[in-house]
Amino acid sequence: MTLTVLFAAGQPLFDAYKTALEQAFQDHALNVRLVTDAPPEQVDYIIYAPSSPLQDFTPYTACKAVLNLWAGVEKIVDNPTLTQPLCRMVDPALTQGMVEYVCGHVLRHHLGMDAHIHARPGDWQPVEPPLAQERSVGILGLGALGLAVAQALGHFGFDIHGWARSPKSVPGITCHHGPKGLEACLSRAQILVTLLPLTRDTENLLDARTLQILPKGAALINPGRGGLVDDTALIAALDSGQLGHATLDVFRTEPLPADHAFWAHARVTVTPHIAATTRPKTAARVIAENIARSAQGQPLLHLVDRPRGY
Ligand code: NAP
Repeated sequence: MTLTVLFAAGQPLFDAYKTALEQAFQDHALNVRLVTDAPPEQVDYIIYAPSSPLQDFTPYTACKAVLNLWAGVEKIVDNPTLTQPLCRMVDPALTQGMVEYVCGHVLRHHLGMDAHIHARPGDWQPVEPPLAQERSVGILGLGALGLAVAQALGHFGFDIHGWARSPKSVPGITCHHGPKGLEACLSRAQILVTLLPLTRDTENLLDARTLQILPKGAALINPGRGGLVDDTALIAALDSGQLGHATLDVFRTEPLPADHAFWAHARVTVTPHIAATTRPKTAARVIAENIARSAQGQPLLHLVDRPRGY
C-alpha cells in the first residue's frame, strides 16, 4: 500500500529533509508518496512545523497523525481543528545538542569564566573555583531534554535537583515535584536550567515571587521557552543582584527585537534560539519509525497529551 505523507513544514525545510526522509522510509520498507501538496482527503500523515501555513486540519479526514518537527508544541496543541493524534519530536541529535548547550553554559557560570574572558592586563586575582560537587544545579523539567541534561551534568558531580509534574526516581538526581517541590528545587539552585514546555501551568512560572526563592546571585539558563519567565521580574532580579546572570535562548518575541532590554543588559547573554535544533537525518528516522508503527497498528511514540498541553 502507498502512503501519502504531506510535508507541510515549508519549502526550505522540505529541501533539507527530502533525501533523509526518503532514505528513512526506504529503511523501514515503507512505500511513501512524499509530497508538499495533495488533495487533503488523500493524506495519510502530515509532517508539520509551527511556521506552516496549514492551520485548518478539518479537511484531512484520512490523516492518522500529525508529526511535529519541533519538540515544543505550544503553537499547535490548542488548534481546535486538530482532531488527529499529534506527535512531538524527540530526536537524539536534538537532545545531544541541548546537552552540549546546557553543559557549556553551566560550566561557564560554575567556573566564573567571564572574569577571565574579560580580564584586563594586570588582573591577577586567583580565586579557587569550587568543584562541581559543591555546586547545586536545578533543572525544571525532567522530560526527554531535562533528564538527559541532568544525567550529563551528573557525570561532572554536580548536586542535581530536578523538578517535574509527576514524582520520579532517578539515580543521582534529587527529584522534586508539585508546588512544594518547586520551592525545594529553586531554593537550592545556584544555577537554574528551565526545560519545561510552555503550557497554561508553566507560563510565567519564574516571576517576582519564585525568582526570590533562588539563592542570591544564582544564574538562570533558559533554553525552554520565553514565556516561562516574566521578563520584567527577570530584569528587576538582575538589577537587584538577586540573579547574577541570565543566559536566554528563547523569547516571547523571536527574533528578539533589537531594542529589547535583554540585548543591552550587562548580565544577560542572548543566544538566538540555537540551543538544540532538530537534525534532518535523525529526525527523519524518528518520523519514519512512527509512521511504520502506526501502519502496523502499534501505538504512536511521543504522543502529545492535548489537555495537558505537552
Ligand atoms: P518533555 O519530554 O515533554 O518534558 C517536559 C517536562 O516538563 C516533563 O518532565 C514534565 O513533567 C515537565 N512539566 C510539564 N509541565 C509541568 C508542570 N506544570 N509542573 C512541573 N513539571 C512540568 O519535553 P522535552 O522534550 O524535554 O522539551 C522541553 C521543552 O524544551 C520543549 O517543550 C521546548 O519548549 C523546549 N525546547 C527548546 C529548544 C531550543 O532550541 N531552545 C529545543 C527543543 C526543545 P512530567 O515528566 O511529570 O510529565
